[in-house]
Amino acid sequence: AGLLRNLGTLLQLRQMHLLKKNAYINGEWVSAQSNAVFPVLNPADDAVIAEIPDMDAADAKIAVDTAANTFQTWKDTTAKERANILRRWYDLCVKNSDNLAEIITAEAGKPLSESKSEIVYGSSFLEWFADTARHINGEVVPSPWPNKMIMVTRQPLGVVSVITPWNFPFAMITRKVGALMAAGCTCVIKPSEDTPLTALAAVQLAEEAGVPKGVINIVTSSRKNAPAVGKVMCEDPSVGCISFTGSTHVGVLLYGMAAKGVKRVCLELGGNAPFIVFPSADISHAVDQAMLAKFRNNGQACIGANRFLVHKDVFDTFVQAFKEKISKNCILGPGTKQGVTCGPLINLEQTKKVTELVEQALSKGAKALVGGKPAAQLGTKFYESTLLTEVKPEMRIYKEEIFGPIAVCYKFETEQEALQVANDTRSGLASYVFTKDLGQAFRMSRQLNFGMVAINDGILSAAEPPFGGIKESGIGREGSKHGAEEYTDLKYTLFSGLDK
Ligand code: NAD
Repeated sequence: AGLLRNLGTLLQLRQMHLLKKNAYINGEWVSAQSNAVFPVLNPADDAVIAEIPDMDAADAKIAVDTAANTFQTWKDTTAKERANILRRWYDLCVKNSDNLAEIITAEAGKPLSESKSEIVYGSSFLEWFADTARHINGEVVPSPWPNKMIMVTRQPLGVVSVITPWNFPFAMITRKVGALMAAGCTCVIKPSEDTPLTALAAVQLAEEAGVPKGVINIVTSSRKNAPAVGKVMCEDPSVGCISFTGSTHVGVLLYGMAAKGVKRVCLELGGNAPFIVFPSADISHAVDQAMLAKFRNNGQACIGANRFLVHKDVFDTFVQAFKEKISKNCILGPGTKQGVTCGPLINLEQTKKVTELVEQALSKGAKALVGGKPAAQLGTKFYESTLLTEVKPEMRIYKEEIFGPIAVCYKFETEQEALQVANDTRSGLASYVFTKDLGQAFRMSRQLNFGMVAINDGILSAAEPPFGGIKESGIGREGSKHGAEEYTDLKYTLFSGLDK
C-alpha cells in the first residue's frame, strides 16, 4: 500500500505545472549546453522525482551575462513597480502553497505540515520586501561648507550570485531574492543539488507574477559541477555580491573567491546553538520549546538547538519530561504520511555523519535515553529521534554542529559556567535562554556571543527581525529593514557651485 501511495504521489507531482524540469535563464526554460542531466531523489524512498540539467561553467557564464544585461534596465524601474511585482509573487506563492509544499516534501523529506509552514514563512519575505522596496531611502546631510549639499543615495550592487542549501529550499531563496530585487539588483541562483525543484517552482510563480525575463536566473547543477559553477558565480567581474547560505566550510571557500574581486558577501553559515534552562524556568514550557528548537525539520536547521545546558536543580525533571515528549511526539516516516512529525534526513552523507557522531559518543560513555541508531526499517536515510546525556568535551558531538535529530544534554551549576560553555564555540548564530528572572535574562542577552538570543522561546525566525550570525556563523543580516540594504552601496554626491 505504501509503495502504491508513493507511486501515486509521484505521478501526481509529475503532472503539476509547477514541477519544472529545466533550468531558467533569460526567461527561457533551458537544458545544459552539454545536455547533461542529474537525478533529484525523494529521500524517503530514493525514488527519482525528475532529471534536471547538470550545468557547468559555460551555462553559469550565460546566466551571469544575462543578469548583468538585465540589470541595466531593472535598476531604473521604480520602487513602486518592483514592490507591485514582489507583492504579486507573494500572492501567487500563497495561492499555490499546497503544490509548493508537496514539492518540498518530495525532495527535502520534511512532513507536509512543515513544508506548508515553510511556504508561509518563506512567502512572508516577499510580502515584507514588497513594502521595503518603497522605503530604501538615502539622506541629505548638513554640509560643513556654505552653499553646498551632501546627498547620499543607495545604489543596487548589480548582479547577486545566490547559492542556497537544501534545508529550507523555498525560504532561503525568497529571503535573498525578495531583498535583492527590492534593492534593484538582478540575480543568478544556484540551488542545492538536493532540492532544485522547489527553486524552479518558485521561479515559475515569479514569471507568472510578471518578474521581467533576466532578473532571476537559475543554474541547476549536481554536486560534482557545483565548484565550476560557483567559481564563475563568484569570480565573474559583473557579479557585485555573493549571497550564500550553507556550511561554514563552503562559505569560507566562496569568501576567498569573492575577496579576489573585493566583492560584497552575505554569508549565513553553520550554527551551534545553546539552549540554556535555569531553575526559575517554566520547565514544561521549556520542554515544549525544546521540541521545536531541536526536532523541527528533523534537527536540520542552522538555528536548531545543538546543546541543551540545564541547571543541576532542574536537570532530572527536564530530561525526564524531554524524554517522554520525544518518545510520544516524534513519529518517524515519509513526510507525506499523515501523523508523521519527523521525516528522513536529506541524504546519505548526513545520515552517515549523524550515525558516526552518536556511535563515537556512545563508545566513549555517553548514554542514549531514547533512540541512538538509524531507523533502517523505514529507509536508508531515517534516524531515530535521540536524547543523549553524559556527553564529554572529548567527544566530537560536544563541539560539532549535529544537523540531525540528536538532543544532547549537559548539567551546569552556575550562571557563569553556563555562559562560559555556551560561548565556547567558533559559531555565533542563535541561542536560547529559559528563565523567569528578568535580571538574568538581561545579563544573558548582553553576554551571549550570538547574533540572535531568544528568551523563553524556541523559535525566532520571521521577516521582521534581522537574521544572522557573528564569528564563523556569517556576515550580514537577512530580513528586517536591514536585509535589502545588504544589496546596496552608499553613494555620496557633493553638490557645489550650482547657486552661481
Ligand atoms: P553546503 O555548504 O554543503 O551547500 C550549500 C550550497 O553550496 C549548495 O547549493 C551546494 O551545492 C553549494 N556548494 C557546495 N560546494 C560548492 C562550491 N565549491 N562552489 C559553489 N557552491 C558550492 O551546505 P548544505 O549541506 O546544503 O546545508 C547545510 C549547512 O547550511 C549547515 O551547516 C547549516 O548550518 C547551514 N545553514 C545555514 C543557515 C543560516 O542562515 N545561517 C541556514 C540554513 C543552513
